[in-house]
Amino acid sequence: MKMRCPHCKSTAHVRSSYEVSDLSRETYFACSNTACGHTFAAVTEIHRTLSPSAIPDPKIRLPLSKHVRRKVLVEQLMTLPTSPMPPPA
Ligand SMILES: [Zn+2]
Repeated sequence: MKMRCPHCKSTAHVRSSYEVSDLSRETYFACSNTACGHTFAAVTEIHRTLSPSAIPDPKIRLPLSKHVRRKVLVEQLMTLPTSPMPPPA
């Protein structure tokens, strides 16, 4: 991952990162422009679900994107049979 340096607009590359929580990560960037030399931290946060997980963690409570067809999903989850095939490896 890379970002643009907010000062000189050059590319800034990731130097390191660590997981803050199940939903966020702090990443440290260094500007590639040696005349600038800016280093900075950014936080990446998961803030909504675009497609629901097939193996959801009950502790993770993310809002669903507006495009998700909730009623159809619920209807299908409650009525479709379970396939006899094993899950993918
Ligand atoms: Zn810079």
